[in-house]
Amino acid sequence: MKQETSNMNRRNALKGLGTTVATLVVAPTIAGGTKVEGDSQPAVLENPVNKYPQPPYPKQKQPHPGLASKMDPLPDHGEKSYKGSGRLQGRKALITGGDSGIGRAAAIAYAREGADVAINYLPAEEEDAQQVIKLIEQAGRKAVAIPGDITDKEFCQKLVEKTVAQLGGLDILVNNAGYQKSNLSIMDISDESFDATMKTNIYALFWITKAALLHLPEGASIIATTSVQAYDPSENLFDYAQTKAANVAYVKSLSKQLGPKGIRVNGVSPGPVWTPLQVCGGQEQDKLENFGGDTPLQRAGQPAELASIFVQLADNGGSYATGQIYGAAGGGGHP
Ligand code: NAD
Ligand code: MG
Repeated sequence: MKQETSNMNRRNALKGLGTTVATLVVAPTIAGGTKVEGDSQPAVLENPVNKYPQPPYPKQKQPHPGLASKMDPLPDHGEKSYKGSGRLQGRKALITGGDSGIGRAAAIAYAREGADVAINYLPAEEEDAQQVIKLIEQAGRKAVAIPGDITDKEFCQKLVEKTVAQLGGLDILVNNAGYQKSNLSIMDISDESFDATMKTNIYALFWITKAALLHLPEGASIIATTSVQAYDPSENLFDYAQTKAANVAYVKSLSKQLGPKGIRVNGVSPGPVWTPLQVCGGQEQDKLENFGGDTPLQRAGQPAELASIFVQLADNGGSYATGQIYGAAGGGGHP
């Protein structure tokens, strides 16, 4: 893609500039009389506007649920960039929708931070899922693949049981899987489609959370992926937006129940992020071309740009954050 090439050139030019600036700023410093030895590599400043491909993006369509490996440009889930520092050493995580997109970025980051990770996904996504399993194992952690449909209550219960059995416990639950189908009119939404959206985005969290609470210890963390759609719904996402508002209420209510029990519940609210969900019916084709172009950062976000938020919300270090929604929307949307 022409646009991408020029972006890449600008990116490289900026990287060079960033190195010079960063060398001045991030040399070892004396803080409170103690010498702080950081990474020997100086941090490279990155301009978030030019960091990733900008619109226009090529039109593309895949059958649901879509594969990250077939997207153009390929999404960045942090495969080459995420560096861990032991923040989740020995933790045990279950991530729904961990095969691709935002869930894959969280899975890679968790493994590199020292956690064992189970991922759930639909059987049609085996190819994407196997790439993630390999990456978790390359990080030296245990990886568990549990394909299955979370619109099925019994499967949700089995998913948690299998995770606990294979990881030897569970202390991070990431409810991230989601179904989004664009419809320009409420009149076009069939009962079946409405039901699939509600079951995937609301019921599954209810079933999986109830099953997980039988196992989650004090200090555990639950994270739900909500959306800017919860706050400012698009006309074409009438049913989906309602489920994402429900996810905010899930976080706000459940955190009040579980706070006294020592379990934190938080949410992540992404804006437009370059993932399969958007190219397999989640978005109108004309909107896809300029996806994220109307945000102050003028482009779609990449899954890798959200990974550290999922780490922060799971980490013991974030222990006073519960009932919160952390946003990453390129400067648009809420919260
Ligand atoms: P994605 O397509 O990579 O991930 C969604 C995943 O949901 C799929 O990989 C699939 O494994 C899973 N899934 C869907 N239906 C399922 C079912 N019935 N059973 C089991 N798994 C099922 O896309 P993504 O954008 O990374 O989506 C992750 C979350 O982010 C979703 O909750 C979505 O609503 C939310 N979100 C995405 C955006 C965005 O712009 N991409 C913006 C805001 C919120
Ligand atoms: Mg997927």
